[in-house]
Amino acid sequence: MEDNREKRKDFIRNIIDIDISSNKNNGKVETRFPPEPNGYLHIGHAKAICLNFGIAEEYKRGECHLRFDDTNPEKEEVEYIESIKEDVKWLGFDWGKHLYFASDYFNKFYEYAIELIKNGKAYICNLSPDEIKEYRGTPTEPGKNSPYRDRTVEENLELFERMKKGEFKEGECVLRAKIDMAHPNINMRDPALYRIKHVSHHRTGDKWCIYPMYDFAHCISDAVEGITHSICTLEFEDHRPLYDWILDNISIGCHPQQIEFARLELTYTILSKRKLLQLVQEGHVSGWDDPRMPTLSGIRRRGYTPGAVRNFCDRIGVAKTNSTVDVALLEYFVREALNFAAPRVMAVLRPVKIIIDNYPEGKTEYFDAENNPEDKSSGTRKISFSREIYIEQEDFREDPPKKYFRLAPGREVRLKHAYIIKCEKAIKDEKTGEIKELHCTYDPETLSGMPKAERKVKGTLHWVSVKHSIDAEVRLYDRLFMKDNPEDTQEGKDFRSNLNPNSLEVLKSCKIEPGLEKLKPGDTFQFLRQGYFCVDSDTTDNKLIFNRTISLRDTWAKIEKTGK
Ligand code: ATP
Ligand code: MG
Repeated sequence: MEDNREKRKDFIRNIIDIDISSNKNNGKVETRFPPEPNGYLHIGHAKAICLNFGIAEEYKRGECHLRFDDTNPEKEEVEYIESIKEDVKWLGFDWGKHLYFASDYFNKFYEYAIELIKNGKAYICNLSPDEIKEYRGTPTEPGKNSPYRDRTVEENLELFERMKKGEFKEGECVLRAKIDMAHPNINMRDPALYRIKHVSHHRTGDKWCIYPMYDFAHCISDAVEGITHSICTLEFEDHRPLYDWILDNISIGCHPQQIEFARLELTYTILSKRKLLQLVQEGHVSGWDDPRMPTLSGIRRRGYTPGAVRNFCDRIGVAKTNSTVDVALLEYFVREALNFAAPRVMAVLRPVKIIIDNYPEGKTEYFDAENNPEDKSSGTRKISFSREIYIEQEDFREDPPKKYFRLAPGREVRLKHAYIIKCEKAIKDEKTGEIKELHCTYDPETLSGMPKAERKVKGTLHWVSVKHSIDAEVRLYDRLFMKDNPEDTQEGKDFRSNLNPNSLEVLKSCKIEPGLEKLKPGDTFQFLRQGYFCVDSDTTDNKLIFNRTISLRDTWAKIEKTGK
């Protein structure tokens, strides 16, 4: 994988440097990426992946674990586990032998819970969920002790055993840590450690009907695996005292350091698995890998490259305060990566036919074209030219506005890699007034190297030969949301009210230059003057489908918009 990243030290890497120089953890660095398998990964997760796996790569004695945080049996699916693995690999990272499931530690969690009970640090509470909430107090008022708080160790052990055996209903009781109901941090007011769920688990089946809470399972999983730096997002800052309390109160020989960083937020983008799931389930998009989705599978199908995502994550860095990144920055890195990687081809998306009246019928010429001027090693190809060609409808105007340098009656333009042509006549449909075809003449002495080749004409157009072209469907994507902050909604409405109804436009009669052989999904191209496109996975032997990954910046659109 390309690696032109210049590592700037951030506050996390500074902490690690200090730990290494003081030989903390014997100089070892062990990180983890702990997704909950309840959805597909999105670009925000890429930030956490690049951070955790990136640190492991940079520190020679470092390794990064991939751990599925599958302690909640209700929401998890095998499909998600497979997609997460694929996405991490796609980004270019390798967990090696460190693939784990938190559910593998269910016995350990249970034993540590018993240890807490035996030491008088945890108790079974029979308050109802509503009562627990009521007893918890508020940020400004202390909570009240549960009436069950002073149960004896024996009683708690017996009740916990019966909880495990399935003798109680969901919600009838929970195991709680015994900390301090007046603690200024609400997370420390006797938080629940275990709850009853009569639900089978995708890996442990019906063995358990009690499942550990996130805060209890996460710190123990980290410690069991010998994680040194447990890096998470800022929402967990208030949970850190609990992370530390649990590890300080059980006999586990490892105490990772939790460090929080700001999560990625992007303009025009929703980064929440729950909301993305809603878009999928309600059919606003075609699936988790719809190319408009900010999921890694979506942007991969769209044609974004892993290098672009990694460079983006490097550039945004990590900080301790939340902020929103402009999605244009991500797009910048995508264009940068594809500019070098994508071969150029000519494709006409909304074709109008040109007949070159003075060009011999039946004749074909082949012109040389560079595959990619940015990459001299990419070689050249031959492009077929004949009497009938297609150009873009928008490259002809009957009444050209000022500064419009494309084709118009009586005007000349250059055809890229070919001749200069002049428009003689536009034939219109009598009823609709639509342009049916254009009649032009060509100047045979204007090929590259010929005497009149240097003649100045202002516009250069892409084109394809009618009889040589191949048909394709092209899917154009616009932003999925119309507002830079999709959560900015009118009262009573949610983010879905900001969905862009025009985020997908399908063009069914596009014409592509021939010779693109053995195309496979994911192959990327630059369609000259238009943007970057990639072969979609819906492509079949009889039907070629492209996604627009991203447009080139369109100078004419800008002129028209700003009037400059
Ligand atoms: P979501 O909020 O989208 O549902 P999550 O935090 O519930 O995401 P997890 O599967 O728990 O999803 O996330 C795995 C890891 O990825 C966690 O360490 C989490 O902090 C990190 N992560 C999730 N979203 C972001 C984000 N937007 N920016 C950076 N890191 C993130
Ligand atoms: Mg989560």
